[in-house]
Parts: sequence; structure tokens; C-alpha cells
Amino acid sequence: MTIAVYPGTFDPITSGHADIIKRAASIFDKLIIGVYDKPNKQVLFSVAERVAMVSRVIANLPGVHVKPYSGLTADFIHSVNGTVMIRGLRASSDFEREFEMALMNKKLSPDIELICLMTSSEYQFLSSSLIKEVARLGGCLKDMIPDYVANALKEKFSAQVTKVLENETKC
Ligand code: ADP
Repeated sequence: MTIAVYPGTFDPITSGHADIIKRAASIFDKLIIGVYDKPNKQVLFSVAERVAMVSRVIANLPGVHVKPYSGLTADFIHSVNGTVMIRGLRASSDFEREFEMALMNKKLSPDIELICLMTSSEYQFLSSSLIKEVARLGGCLKDMIPDYVANALKEKFSAQVTKVLENETKC
């Protein structure tokens, strides 16, 4: 059995992440989504909130699980007996960063193989940071995030609630 791990911040999970999850789940026997608890960037959602949102996305996907983790991603992958790390690639800027991280991870853990899946074209512009920015400004996020993520964003940006709801009717 090959166990793959898709690590990330998922702050919050988007349709782009969900697409990578579904595609990776169809390749591997078991897929574990690792939600990194304290990334080196400011997060909007707590790790528990991010795990809860990922749980809903994977609810109907057999063989897919979610776990929070801290520390080195390679250590987390070993702790769940994973041998493959999944990452998603959008623009060339993702490539530079992923390549750098992949070389470091290979040095730290030569037994873990990295597999990058190219984004589907409809999600190539999607990022969690852009989603948060658009939500904060009250933009319509239809098809870019699940409804419950949209609701969670509305709660976080409660000052803009009316505006977001107004926009929603225009989606
Ligand atoms: P991290 O902080 O580890 O980059 P993210 O949650 O931002 O965490 O992203 C996790 C992984 O998902 C990364 O490999 C990222 O490139 C990928 N990803 C993010 N958005 C998309 C998307 N729209 N399409 C494909 N892959 C994506």
C-alpha cells in the first residue's frame, strides 16, 4: 500500500486544493492531508478550523484522511508511514519554491518522493491568500471555495457580511 501525504496550510481550503486532493486520491491507496499548524506566515483560521474545513471536503472520499501536524513535514510523513509527498503547481513561481523545498526535503529524507500535480486550468489563479483578500473586500467567490468555507470567511470578516451577502446574490 502506498501512502501519500498532501501537506499545506489550507488557510482556507479552496476548490484548487480540493481538485488536487480528488486527483491524488484516485492514484494512491491512502491519502493523508497534513494541515501544518504554525506556518511562517500569518493565518486567518486556527488549525482546528482548517482541519474541520478539510474534513468536509474529503467526507465522501474513501481512503482520504486529514491530520494536523507541527514540525518538519518530512517527520510528519514518516510518522504516518508515507512515502510520497503531493504538492500542487500553478504558475512558474510555485515551481521555484517547490523545487527548492523538494531539494531540501530530499536531503533531509531521501526516502520520500515528491509528486507535483499541475493545477487544472480553471483553478490556476486560485490561492488562499487571494480568496481571503476578495472575501475581505466582499467579492463573489462562487465555485472557488465550498459554501461552508464562504460562510466561515463571512464570519471572520463580519464587518463585511452584508456586502458579501449582497454580492452573493449577483453571483
Ligand atoms: P503552503 O503554505 O504549504 O504552500 P497552501 O495551502 O498554500 O500551503 O498550498 C498547499 C499546496 O497546494 C501547495 O503545493 C500549493 O502550490 C498547492 N495549491 C494551492 N492552490 C492551488 C491551486 N489553485 N491549484 C493547484 N494547487 C494549488
